[in-house]
Amino acid sequence: MSTWEDNVRRVVPYVPGEQPKIKDIIKLNTNENPYPPSPMVINKQLELKNLRLYPDDKALVLVDAIADYHKVDSAQVFVGVGSDDVLAMAFMTFFNSDKKILFPDITYSFYDVWAELLGIPYRQPALDENFRLVKEDYYVENGGIVFPNPNAPTSIAEPVSFVEDIVKHNKDVVVIVDEAYVDFGGESALSLIDKYDNLLVVRTYSKSRSMAGIRIGYAIGSKKLIKYMNDVKFSYNSYTMNMPSQILGTESLKDEAYFRETVNKVIDTREWFSKEISELGFKCPKSSTNFIFMTHDKIPAKEIFEKARDNKIYVRYFNKPRIDNYLRVTIGTREEMEIFLEFLKSLEA
Ligand SMILES: *Cc1c(COP(=O)(O)O)cnc(C)c1O
Repeated sequence: MSTWEDNVRRVVPYVPGEQPKIKDIIKLNTNENPYPPSPMVINKQLELKNLRLYPDDKALVLVDAIADYHKVDSAQVFVGVGSDDVLAMAFMTFFNSDKKILFPDITYSFYDVWAELLGIPYRQPALDENFRLVKEDYYVENGGIVFPNPNAPTSIAEPVSFVEDIVKHNKDVVVIVDEAYVDFGGESALSLIDKYDNLLVVRTYSKSRSMAGIRIGYAIGSKKLIKYMNDVKFSYNSYTMNMPSQILGTESLKDEAYFRETVNKVIDTREWFSKEISELGFKCPKSSTNFIFMTHDKIPAKEIFEKARDNKIYVRYFNKPRIDNYLRVTIGTREEMEIFLEFLKSLEA
């Protein structure tokens, strides 16, 4: 007997970090920024009576502001509902070969979910024993490449020359560099986009701009790449960027001083915290992000994760090969990290 369920698209969805409903927790599990968005965003008056109208389908105010900010042409900017939306659109637009696309074995765990959803064949070259990407692994025939730089959850950044080597060896496919964390210490590949028309750089407002709740991401690349992405996007959903996002996203870019100040506070706290935990016997790769990836020889990560949770401190634990003795800990405020540090000191090795 056949049923409608025979024709369901079956997928195993991505599981984001927990968003606990209980109060008074220290939330270091989803790489949100501990500081609020710029006061210019918070104090912006929205003409909410205009919500009866459709927003600008091209989100031109925001696209122009992003183009201005990065000193590129507006035709080189694509905006979406968080970088997850931008990345999904890019997969849909560019990864249509029968050859396998490539991304690391340890990386953002949405990539394989999109590949599965869209029926894109893929292979995941292993990071080396120090969790570094091996660029030569990407010098082979493939259907496209995507990786974050800095990588997640390892927190490690590679220099732009490294990215360029990969792009140089892959001029016949699209290379996507996911720069979700680049503002916290990475080197951007934006300097390469005029040289390589197959390079797409993806950014988000969710981490460094303290605006995860508004859902804004964008991509910058050659006009050709952006046109192809827009053709797919406008064949799917015209009005993804709502009016408040377009306006508040534009405001955020006007306050560079606040942006720098909050990013630097996160970096300072990260450097202090990394040093403190090394004295407790924890190890972590040098982070270029707003999180650290920490491990201890004697205290199992899973145990720390569970005990921390009992103490209302939420961090991220991945029960996956190679990284199941690591914790990914978002850098919170100095006060939050002091409390987490006291908790770590209370653990017995
Ligand atoms: C957080 C994150 C994203 C997605 O962010 P959005 O909130 O959808 O913009 C994409 N890639 C990486 C590597 C991330 O860590």
